[in-house]
Amino acid sequence: MHNLITTLITPACLLCAATAAFAMDPDVNRANAISLSADHPNSFLNFAPELPQMRARAAQINTAFGLHVSEIEPGLFFVTDLVYQSAFAITDDGVVVFDAPPSFGDNLRKAIALVAPDQPITHLIMSHGHSDHNGGGYTFADIPDLEVISAAAVADTLAAHPLQGVLTPTRTFADTLVLNIGGLAINLQTADFHAEDVDTLIYLPDQKFLMAIDTITPGEAPFKNFGATADISGYLANFETFLSYDFTHFLSGHVSVLGTRDDVIKSRDYAFDVRDTVYALMPTFNDRMMEALEAVAFENPNLAYRYAMETIRDDCAGQIIDRWQDELSVVDLWADSHCDTIVTFAIMH
Ligand SMILES: [Zn+2]
Repeated sequence: MHNLITTLITPACLLCAATAAFAMDPDVNRANAISLSADHPNSFLNFAPELPQMRARAAQINTAFGLHVSEIEPGLFFVTDLVYQSAFAITDDGVVVFDAPPSFGDNLRKAIALVAPDQPITHLIMSHGHSDHNGGGYTFADIPDLEVISAAAVADTLAAHPLQGVLTPTRTFADTLVLNIGGLAINLQTADFHAEDVDTLIYLPDQKFLMAIDTITPGEAPFKNFGATADISGYLANFETFLSYDFTHFLSGHVSVLGTRDDVIKSRDYAFDVRDTVYALMPTFNDRMMEALEAVAFENPNLAYRYAMETIRDDCAGQIIDRWQDELSVVDLWADSHCDTIVTFAIMH
């Protein structure tokens, strides 16, 4: 979301002001609430602007109806409204759509009509069942014989809890489904990295295109707490799964940037660096807690525990920001939350 906001409102002055005033202050505790006043100790001016290399990659809206549409391989189109992402492919039999975010409204259908006039839309393949990525399915509901494909577990979830705008699957699969639609090879494989039921990896081998929704944020540090994952072990393990595919395009569902293999590698290295940094600090946990227990005369152990967790988090965040602030955007906004996630995990495991 921050990406969209800066893309839309930064033009000249706001970014210039932030850039001019920005200097990394080691005493700022970025885990505290951000203040919009310039002289507050946790002022927004203490946060780095987005990296220029990230801004240079950002997609631009290029249609009259508010979407960026680009042909990334012959017949394969990447679509974004700068916040959500989807794709569609033109085959010999018609158009296959991969995810229909409701934020696109019926503009996705208009974009397809613009690029492929007179071509029927034959398939909608859903990466997962969440309405924020597929609640725009309703805009295709009037198409006769439209095949809507999802993992079987998604169909079960939707049967029990229908979501507004998400179409009912007409064809499901348990673990894998290999398709050839009008000459286009499509491999679907279930995985567990985001949704409560199941996710589907969508892979087009001939286009070296891999779609794994709600995973990395290309060019940026992950969103808060590693994309609010409920399963940090699964989150870390999935990088190996993604990289086992031969791909050059990685569509992750968010920000305006289409990812690359390098983006996935960088995101993996960032996540594992956070993990290793916290684990290197954890042996100091008891000493930190003891220091705080003494400060409160052994009368408030919760305070001491929190002190140990927070100081490890902050030491970790300081190191991560130093190492990564020139590699990924917005590291200083989220590093403390990433360190916090690993501290909590390390205590329990
Ligand atoms: Zn989702």
